[in-house]
Amino acid sequence: MYTKQFDSQDITKFLQWIAEARNILLVSHMNADGDACGSLMGLTLLYDQASMIGCSVTPVLPNGCPKNFEWLPESGRIVKGENDTQAWERMTEEADLIVGVDMNAASRTDMLAEPLRKARCHKVLIDHHHNPDREEFELVFSDPEISSSCELVLWLSQAMWGDRFLNREVATCLYAGLSTDTGGFAFSCEQPSCFEAASMLVRYDIHPAEIHNLIINTFSVNRMQFYGFALSERLRIYPDQRVALMAFSLDDQKRFGVGGEDMEGLVNYTLMMKEMEVGALLREEVGRTKVSLRAKYEVNVNHIAQQLGGGGHTKAAGATCKMPLDETLREVEKLLGVENAKPLDCNSKG
Ligand code: 5GP
Ligand code: MN
Repeated sequence: MYTKQFDSQDITKFLQWIAEARNILLVSHMNADGDACGSLMGLTLLYDQASMIGCSVTPVLPNGCPKNFEWLPESGRIVKGENDTQAWERMTEEADLIVGVDMNAASRTDMLAEPLRKARCHKVLIDHHHNPDREEFELVFSDPEISSSCELVLWLSQAMWGDRFLNREVATCLYAGLSTDTGGFAFSCEQPSCFEAASMLVRYDIHPAEIHNLIINTFSVNRMQFYGFALSERLRIYPDQRVALMAFSLDDQKRFGVGGEDMEGLVNYTLMMKEMEVGALLREEVGRTKVSLRAKYEVNVNHIAQQLGGGGHTKAAGATCKMPLDETLREVEKLLGVENAKPLDCNSKG
């Protein structure tokens, strides 16, 4: 079982805010992943049941729900913030409770951040990233050692309501985030509570294999061909530094008709080589570059991401740099100590 204690006064306050609210807004980060979508929808379905009759519970994602999570129960309710930022401003003004999940600061919601900061209602954060913004959020439920936000949502809901509102739909949402944030129970699962959470969720007649297929085995032909291109043409390997990195221009992405969602998981290939310790993936967007960092054992990539203005976890972190691809690449190369190193000549192997 989860051994950390939630503050009982925090729980009482939060229960009261949910019970009294007429408008609850839920929000997670830009480019939502499985943990963001799963915890967002899990909370939505929990608050539907726990709030007063007539209360509206609205899940919001800055740039919407990724395609491979559209099958999550009731994900059709997710409001795409970027479609109408004025509507988002109105919603934040009218809300009496805003819950941010799987994000440590308002800035992670991109274009939604400013109205979120301005909102004068109760604001709660439920998250597992380092450095939660305790200034911005009145109540913070944070545990950087836990596997996922979905696991935290499960234990928090246990502390608030016991098993009362847990059902197949909620369990499906939470399992989706728990399984993806641990790479299918491969990492970030050192704590026994991670498996205890999984064990509790599968009691609700969920289907792990089907959930896996719906999330992972969803490649388009274009995306598969792009992966081939990425590994053969864009992977740079620095054996002495044990660093592997890939960088993709907008043209690369246009050529294969792929975008950010299609690159989810690609950075992990850098660490599949036995000798590699750190991996990086850079993806050009209009006016900025998205950086993903991964490490195996020794390096703390959260520290590296912070130097680029980002953050995340020790072994998985990221940043969004307002610089073109080539400049960002130079910065990343410097931070990884490969700015003067020569990458392996992959073609010489014949
Ligand atoms: P990914 O590389 O999969 O996009 O993100 C890995 C981790 O880094 C996630 O936990 C995510 O929260 C964090 N992360 C990714 N992008 C950013 C960013 O732009 N800013 C911050 N602060 N964290 C990020
Ligand atoms: Mn997460």
